[in-house]
Amino acid sequence: MLLQSFDPSNGNLLGELEVSSPNVIEDSITLAKTAYASWRSLPIEERAKIVSKAFKSLVPHQEKLAQLLCQEMGKKYDRGISEVRGSLFAGSHYATEAKNALTTDKPRNIEYRSLGVCAVISPWNYPMAMAVNLIVPALIAGNTVVFKPSEETPLVAQMMVTLLNESLPNGVLNIVHGDGIVGRYLVESDGINLIAFTGSLAVGKDIMKRSAKNLKRLIMELGGNDPMIVLDDANIDAAAHFAVASSFENSGQMCTSTERVYVLSGVADKFIKKVTEVAAAYNVGPWNESESQLGPIINQKQLFKIKAQIDDALSKGAKLRVGGGIIENRYFQPTVITDIRPDMALEKDETFGPVVAISIVENKEEAITRANNSPYGLGASIFGQQDVREVVSEIDSGMIGINKGPGGSGDSPWVGAKQSGYGFHGSKDGHRQFAQVTVVE
Ligand code: NAD
Repeated sequence: MLLQSFDPSNGNLLGELEVSSPNVIEDSITLAKTAYASWRSLPIEERAKIVSKAFKSLVPHQEKLAQLLCQEMGKKYDRGISEVRGSLFAGSHYATEAKNALTTDKPRNIEYRSLGVCAVISPWNYPMAMAVNLIVPALIAGNTVVFKPSEETPLVAQMMVTLLNESLPNGVLNIVHGDGIVGRYLVESDGINLIAFTGSLAVGKDIMKRSAKNLKRLIMELGGNDPMIVLDDANIDAAAHFAVASSFENSGQMCTSTERVYVLSGVADKFIKKVTEVAAAYNVGPWNESESQLGPIINQKQLFKIKAQIDDALSKGAKLRVGGGIIENRYFQPTVITDIRPDMALEKDETFGPVVAISIVENKEEAITRANNSPYGLGASIFGQQDVREVVSEIDSGMIGINKGPGGSGDSPWVGAKQSGYGFHGSKDGHRQFAQVTVVE
């Protein structure tokens, strides 16, 4: 059976790959198991050197990788090239960081041992970054990897793995293709010891259930429904620009994009006016048109999910300030919608579209209650001055930005609270999750 990959901006077929059959998946797991014996026995410094060199060898290919990534996923070229550059940097940087986390500062009786074969299952919205962030620490810890990219972006994943495998020892990094059925096969396989997953909450829950059979180690980076709070003394201009940029980044298809805005009533009019003005100026178009700022939505299912959330909100009394519709069956208009209430799907669910959804609240207590009223707890942004720290201390999110977006700085972990995460990556603590902590006395 063939897996076809399409350009989301026009529906053109970009390429085809074979869906991995159970036999092919088994072969990949066997290859990974065979390679494991020699990979784990290499000194960690050697593993780090090999992985780092492999990522550096991709630098001459970065424009081609970015072009394919943008065609397949739809993001603008400047974002695509920065994802590729960032991923290549992270590949070698994480190699060194993970090596340090797993060797230095450890009490002499603690060892960080490898776990075995790790399945890395990744989403389509950042097809290179989300894969590299988990593949690298898994490899440095001495594990070998079977990687299943999203069925929406298999070509760029295949290109990356093919290039990396020119430098990596045979069988250390394997790739299989297909949708959730292939993912499920890995999750249920006795040959997999660790699952490092990035994706939706629903699939995360399914993985947790199915992997219980042999209690596989899990690291899961799941969805978000990030709140933003705008307090009375916030810089309204900066807050408005951030609300739009964060809601619209990657056409809203980012796990930490702002999904819900709670603005205090005293500054609501000024804030909404500015947000609407900034949002209305956004251009929609394909990745390779220089004036386009918002690319297509990844597929029809996602496009109509956004529309259904908007329609649900409007039917319950929300007010549309700009946008709200589908363009050419591929894009979603830059949208600002206000008067959102807790019973609307826009408030309850992850939207993953270019929508600024604003609720006017009377005080900071109401803002905190509404912000926390979600099973998700990935990121949050709080804009204000005097009470900002007090509000931050009440927010149940793994990453909280003060007068800026959450996460992504330096070597800090990428981590979700509540049902947005189970395990995490990045930082010394994150790298250590890919290893078996062993006490030897
Ligand atoms: P998804 O959960 O639908 O799919 C993710 C991956 O899991 C894909 O490779 C898919 O084929 C596979 N899969 C699907 N069903 C499976 C199953 N039953 N068992 C095993 N694997 C299965 O997510 P998506 O639509 O690709 O990505 C969007 C989601 O990812 C959003 O919820 C977003 O917030 C989340 N995300 C989270 C982070 C983070 O760091 N927390 C980062 C990026 C994306």
